[in-house]
Amino acid sequence: MRLEEKVKPARRAPVWADVPDDKWNDWRWQLSHRLNSVDELNQVIHLTESEQRALQASGLFRVDITPYFASLMDPDDLRDPIRRQVIPTDAELVPFTSMMEDSLAEDKHSPVPGLVHRYPDRVLMLVTTQCASYCRYCTRSRIVGDPSAQFSRTDYDAQIDYLARTPQVRDVLLSGGDPLVLAPKLLENLISRLRAIPHIEIVRIGSRVPVFMPQRVDQDLCDMLARYHPVWLNIHVNHPNEITQELAAACDRLTRAGVPLGNQSVLLAGVNDSVHIQRELVHKLVMLRVRPYYLYQCDLVEGAGHFRTTVSKGLEIMEGLRGHTSGFAVPTYVIDAPGGGGKIPVTPNYVVSAAPGKVVLRNFEGFITTYSEPLDYDPTAVKHLEDHAARRPEPGQSGVLDLLQGERLAIEPEGFAETHVRGGARQHRLNADQHKWQPLGIGAGRAPAGDSPANGGDSAANPDQPQPGTITVINGEVIS
Ligand code: SF4
Repeated sequence: MRLEEKVKPARRAPVWADVPDDKWNDWRWQLSHRLNSVDELNQVIHLTESEQRALQASGLFRVDITPYFASLMDPDDLRDPIRRQVIPTDAELVPFTSMMEDSLAEDKHSPVPGLVHRYPDRVLMLVTTQCASYCRYCTRSRIVGDPSAQFSRTDYDAQIDYLARTPQVRDVLLSGGDPLVLAPKLLENLISRLRAIPHIEIVRIGSRVPVFMPQRVDQDLCDMLARYHPVWLNIHVNHPNEITQELAAACDRLTRAGVPLGNQSVLLAGVNDSVHIQRELVHKLVMLRVRPYYLYQCDLVEGAGHFRTTVSKGLEIMEGLRGHTSGFAVPTYVIDAPGGGGKIPVTPNYVVSAAPGKVVLRNFEGFITTYSEPLDYDPTAVKHLEDHAARRPEPGQSGVLDLLQGERLAIEPEGFAETHVRGGARQHRLNADQHKWQPLGIGAGRAPAGDSPANGGDSAANPDQPQPGTITVINGEVIS
């Protein structure tokens, strides 16, 4: 079936039937005619009592919906998946265990306002608090929608300055809020300043504007982005009903401008928590040349408790995608670590068992097979090539890879060493010799001034206690 047959043009709600096309297709008209009150929304859908109460409640996350997006709702369906994403209900007022204002601890990982530096080589750069419409489950509802929290020129300067003096950053993700609601000149100014920093290799944009207001993705925007390649863009579609011919045309303009497109969606109860809905979604996305990138577990953010599903529902969906459809149509299902720590992929287990020389695996059908491993595999055969490969330092964040590569023996929770000094006895004849716990050959590749708490590393061990993995052996000789 052709794309045009699968993807229909967006309907226009009767209230806007007389709006001339040139106005309807003008993104500034869409922005200035957004709906946010009971009276305005009642012209498009029949609001429930719960929705009306929430719309009139004070202190709830901001409401604003573009006429284009509001028109996609079925006015008579109280469970319409688009409606649930943008119209508040009483359920937002219900607290739940573990909910937080900043559940990903983003502000805690900000060296300057709006810049979240959590991973070794990339940063999140928040450039606005404004969006075209507001998602009820927004993970950044603590600042998004609040004009008084808007970033200033001074904030932008501080963000760019930090990036210019932090050469480990090679990838900058512009987000917010939504970068594509910024004034075009300001957006270009920020991207051009990033592009002027030699070590920034790619610029990414996270935007829901193509979904809420595809009119914004005009040729001028695409031409501007093309001047600063490589620029990548992730859109945010949660349900197949959001995929219209208007969105398809916007994606087509972006891809023709050389912007690779991905999609990030959030797993939402009552919206897309179904294998069949997710399959339809990813199939439509790949027809638009949009690669499904992430499927997020809903964050533990205030107001979003009723959108959460179990993690097992996410696993069931991944079970229903992997093998059942094209590999590039399968997103990575992730839980963004509550408290900070970044995205953790969650996947069904395909390794059934293992023994030396054999791995037993199962496929999506339940077919169980054996992979025979080579008995003479030499992982050092590539070393001469590896020595010429660019190495990027990951100070304090080398993690489990360090264990696998023999740089350390263990990663201890904070206070581990102190906890195990029992009975207050700091030292006696059996625990005085630190060499007892130094594993031979571990840590040989570690730079002397490398990964230590003193220089921001991730080891939290007591310096008086055994430090696994700190020994250095060269040619069989213990150096330290
Ligand atoms: S578009 Fe993104 S930043 Fe804006 S409200 Fe939705 S989830 Fe939040």
